Amino acid sequence: MGRKLTLWSGIGVIVGFLYGALLPQWVAPADFVGDLFLALLKMIVVPLVVVSVFLGVASLESLGHLKRLGSQTLIYYLTTTSLAVFTGLVLVNLIRPGVGVTLASSASAGPLPPPEGMSFRDFVLRLIPTNPFASLAQGDILPLIVFSLLLGAAVIPVRDREAVVRVFQGLNDAILTLTGWIMGLAPLGVMGLVASIVAEKGLGVVIPIAQYAGTVVAGLLIHAFITLPLVLLLLGQRSALWLFHQVKGALVVAFSTASSSATLPVTLESMEHRAGVSREVAGFVLPLGATVNMDGTALYEAVAALFIAQAYNITLPLSAQVVVFLTATLAAIGAAGIPSAGLVTMALVLQAVGLPLEGIGLILAVDRFLDMMRTTVNVWGDCIGAALIDRWNQGKPQEAESP
Ligand code: ASP
Repeated sequence: MGRKLTLWSGIGVIVGFLYGALLPQWVAPADFVGDLFLALLKMIVVPLVVVSVFLGVASLESLGHLKRLGSQTLIYYLTTTSLAVFTGLVLVNLIRPGVGVTLASSASAGPLPPPEGMSFRDFVLRLIPTNPFASLAQGDILPLIVFSLLLGAAVIPVRDREAVVRVFQGLNDAILTLTGWIMGLAPLGVMGLVASIVAEKGLGVVIPIAQYAGTVVAGLLIHAFITLPLVLLLLGQRSALWLFHQVKGALVVAFSTASSSATLPVTLESMEHRAGVSREVAGFVLPLGATVNMDGTALYEAVAALFIAQAYNITLPLSAQVVVFLTATLAAIGAAGIPSAGLVTMALVLQAVGLPLEGIGLILAVDRFLDMMRTTVNVWGDCIGAALIDRWNQGKPQEAESP
């Protein structure tokens, strides 16, 4: 995303806020433009994930290389997600935002989303696409990633793999070009999305449970501005500030769409063409990260669960908080990269420690705003991961391409 486009997208966010707040009755055209932008981004997500994951794996030098990149990625994801949950738990125990919230307020908070019945067994089985074409048609991303990973790995030892890789390379380039065209609409699209949210929920939406929202936001800021940059600096000797400048366009899109998957085309484009991360690493780490690496979501799940416990005056002992720690990580991995996915998988965390599911009603009002914030951190975590793993695999820092 070029510098001008990023600036205009930032202006789009501000105009969207003002539009939604001042002219909520005239929001329909803005809503249409926002939906159009989102639809165009979604259009390329499935082909992009399949092509880029396949290509990411198929163009690796050897199966040994895949093993190394795969284990580095897994270790990075698990470590940073755990750090995020830990930050959330410490903050929510210190700030205690739920103390003093009355149960009566939950009754007026609105309807509950359907609880998700997701056992560990179901979760693992759902990863295997019994029919990859059905997964393609339904846009079922996680099984598609598994299939593309396996097919890509199986192509590595094929004698004529160069020919296969070249075809997919061409497709990948075309999809990224298409992404560039769609991004030309970003300032308008972002304005429309923000305007329709503000018009629907109102600006005063944050006030009733500001302390809870404040705790989540504080945790997200600590993770985004302190923890992740430190990880990048200490383990990769790279500057997060520099990286931030390269990917800020993708972060604006993440904020306005509240969807890591919809942002993926822009994330890939920024990391490859602006941050100079190799195709091999970006194509492997980012599509995977958009679906499974969700630091912001994990942190939010932990804070929300503890907030609900505090609001219901339920004291969770350390052992229960360990369970929250583990299930929040799992719930974030299981959440799809779409808006509100984290809210739905939170049922898993609440059930695990016996908290009332209706507690979700307490946090519904601010969830869209927090979704926008946590998605931005999710995407930022993916970018830091790609930069770090690229560094580990190249041995020396990459030079930035001029924008
Ligand atoms: N919207 C988030 C994402 O796409 C997932 C969530 O709901 O937490 O990354």
